[in-house]
Amino acid sequence: MGYMHQTFLDGKGVFACRDCHTHFALRSCIESRQYTGQYGRAILFTDIVNVRAGEEDKRSMTTGVHIVRDIFCMRCNKYVGWTYVKAFEIDQKFKEGKFILERELIYDVKREFSVDPELNWT
Ligand SMILES: [Zn+2]
Repeated sequence: MGYMHQTFLDGKGVFACRDCHTHFALRSCIESRQYTGQYGRAILFTDIVNVRAGEEDKRSMTTGVHIVRDIFCMRCNKYVGWTYVKAFEIDQKFKEGKFILERELIYDVKREFSVDPELNWT
């Protein structure tokens, strides 16, 4: 696997890797902002792109035991969140197949450019 296709997203809001700016998700795919990750606030997305998943891991979380896989930026390989493979509690099943991105490790492309167009260009 030498060459990998990168998907570019377009829409009202795009979240991207803070380090290499690879696009991950659209704001329209946000299901909930009420999550907490290793680095603080985290966001639950129904769909994301340009990540690869690590090994399955069984974790005990505040909402019960889940099988999860950490996810990493496809380009720079940095940890950015996790995906839910399986939930054991009935009321947590809706998370299966969805993705958590850690808010500290991603940035909102359009919002940051509109706040300060000079940001990161000096
Ligand atoms: Zn990256």
